[in-house]
Amino acid sequence: IDSRLPDVGTTIFTVMSRLAQACGAINLSQGFPDFSPDPALAAAVSEAIAAGHNQYPPMAGLPALREAIAHKLEGEYGARYEPESEITVTAGATQALFTAIAALVQPGDEVIVFEPAYDAYGPAVRLQGAQLRGIPLRAPDWRPDWDAFKAALSPRTRLVIVNTPHNPTGSIWPREDMLQLAALLDGSRVCVLSDEVYEHMVFDGAEHQSVARHPALACRAIGVSSFGKTYHVTGWKVGYVFGPAALMAEFRKVHQFNVFTVNSPAQAAFATVAGRPETWRGLAAFYQTKRDRLRAQLATSRLRLLPCAGTYFQLVDYRAISDLPDVAFAEWLTREAGVAAIPVSVFSREPRDERIVRLCFAKQDATLDAAAARLAAL
Ligand code: PMP
Ligand code: GLN
Repeated sequence: IDSRLPDVGTTIFTVMSRLAQACGAINLSQGFPDFSPDPALAAAVSEAIAAGHNQYPPMAGLPALREAIAHKLEGEYGARYEPESEITVTAGATQALFTAIAALVQPGDEVIVFEPAYDAYGPAVRLQGAQLRGIPLRAPDWRPDWDAFKAALSPRTRLVIVNTPHNPTGSIWPREDMLQLAALLDGSRVCVLSDEVYEHMVFDGAEHQSVARHPALACRAIGVSSFGKTYHVTGWKVGYVFGPAALMAEFRKVHQFNVFTVNSPAQAAFATVAGRPETWRGLAAFYQTKRDRLRAQLATSRLRLLPCAGTYFQLVDYRAISDLPDVAFAEWLTREAGVAAIPVSVFSREPRDERIVRLCFAKQDATLDAAAARLAAL
């Protein structure tokens, strides 16, 4: 077959979760909680079904949910987005990203990504006939090199994809990086796609840098979030985008023919929580405690812990244990040590000689303890 993506295989998340299952390993690879969501949220879905939320909701999302999202954006980031024209509910962040890229990027355009980059960005860009320009991020802090970014900008640059808190590295951008980006894009036609699915998982008192906080970026940006991360329901696949009306109009032109609209009872359930800060305010502390638990148990292991400022991912350098490249090491770790992890090199197109894998700590304490015991014995 004449493939549009000849070099693309199956996503690493599916590969590693499948291997974990086949080997009976503890799965710290694919990012998802192994615990249940708030029963009240699950009950709200059943109630919504009973109340008749079973047919197509409006194309852009249930008005009550969009109102709640607008309320949240204003309260958290001080930015007013109109529910009618500037917010759209999506089938998770994945559909949001793909739809935004399809709506904004044309053949021959260039799209700047910071690598390692979440694996959904590249194929979506390439399917539009556009070229990727990668800016490498380096351990341990993974901060962007703004001179390299400036050099990568060209008259063909159409979009910059930003992701903070960052998957897979667990780094976050401080305010200065947002200001740098805004300054370098000033006066250009470049749009920003801001993947903020881990917005509420920022640790040690740091502040999440949403594009919504920065008017010079917000005017050219589509922001993306996911209820799957915030409410421990990755399988419900509901998220949303926010952005200025002109960009949102383009987004919706594609969205209406991509999914048209999104799971009605889940939208009704999220409408009951999405505007209430108490439903996400504890999330950072909850995951920080898990991060610290995992780190404490690995502190005396031969794995070297990299900093983790946000997300639910902890990177570890395994150089003291093995010389294997990370893909082979992740497979070995799953088969032989009984713990599945994600190799980090797969998120970059350039070859990397780092020896780093990603561990997901969105797990029950018992799961983390069992995995840590196996890792500490290596
Ligand atoms: N972006 C990033 C950075 C992610 O980590 C994920 C999911 N793990 C997504 C997007 C996709 O989110 P969703 O599950 O809502 O499609
Ligand atoms: N985003 C999740 C992760 O980073 C996985 C999502 C997926 O499996 N596509 O692990």
